[in-house]
Amino acid sequence: MDWEKEDRKYFGDIFKQINSKFHRCFWPKESCSEEAIRAHSIQNSGVLDLISENNHVIMPQMGLDIEKGPFLKFEEIGRNKATTFTGLCDKHDSELFKPLDTVKFDPGNIEQLFLLSYRSVMRELHAKMKAAVDIQSQYGRGVELGRFNPEIVDQPMKMATMVIAEAYSFYLYKFEYDKIYLSMNFKNIVHNVDYIENISPSIAVSSAFSFIDNMHYLEDRQNPKCVCLNIFPDKNGIFIIFSYRKDQEAKLLPYLERFFQAEKFYKLYIVSKLVLMYCENLVLSPKFYNNLSDERKNLIKDFFMQNIWGEKKDSENEALCLFN
Ligand SMILES: [Zn+2]
Repeated sequence: MDWEKEDRKYFGDIFKQINSKFHRCFWPKESCSEEAIRAHSIQNSGVLDLISENNHVIMPQMGLDIEKGPFLKFEEIGRNKATTFTGLCDKHDSELFKPLDTVKFDPGNIEQLFLLSYRSVMRELHAKMKAAVDIQSQYGRGVELGRFNPEIVDQPMKMATMVIAEAYSFYLYKFEYDKIYLSMNFKNIVHNVDYIENISPSIAVSSAFSFIDNMHYLEDRQNPKCVCLNIFPDKNGIFIIFSYRKDQEAKLLPYLERFFQAEKFYKLYIVSKLVLMYCENLVLSPKFYNNLSDERKNLIKDFFMQNIWGEKKDSENEALCLFN
């Protein structure tokens, strides 16, 4: 067998998978068969207005290099594409987020706060489902080409199984959000809202993540513990909003205490590291990013890469701060 050719074909297929879209409308009321559009997880008008420059923002782009394996780079991307996910059809995206997207944000409005975190949850589910579909078909291709033996529980099989289990577990988490949305019991989600004034807009984030490995214990697999983080600027400052389920508060607070107790500017540093350790759905303003020294850009990239793909490894360095 010509392995070189087969390898190239195999990795070519993986690359296509990663670049292909995963369409599905997550409308919670009834099943919807309309094709999903590119929905913004971070508001295009308002938020990206303040962050973009010449209609572009900076986003981490992850991919696969045939020679070097996974890679990550911060790249300029058009604002209309930035942070989008194909998780809702046009009609349902507008209907669901109308109270958030067409009315000025009010940090006291629990429906808006709920929708903000709901959108982070939907984006995360979409990302996890896409990863599961991709890995599963990569594994299937590998078996077809004789690279993996489906009779043996090897690393690729474990990986394919784990990614599918993670997507399913997070699907259960999103289902709780659907129930809250349908019953309008918005108070079941707790929000910690910080507003820090006189900070120029350098970053926006919409992310749902976990501080623990939800796959480790059955109890967490069936009832994953997650937090949503939304960061976005307005004209005078920046909102930093943590959201989580009220019934999970006791489990999550220990991880958030350091942030909650910090002084204003120290908060910005702590949250920057949390973003780099746990969140992949972020945009940076070109004005901020392009002015960083190459050394600082590399430091941020290395810290991010280590934590997103490797084992979590915290360290202290104020150059990791993502605010001006
Ligand atoms: Zn729909």
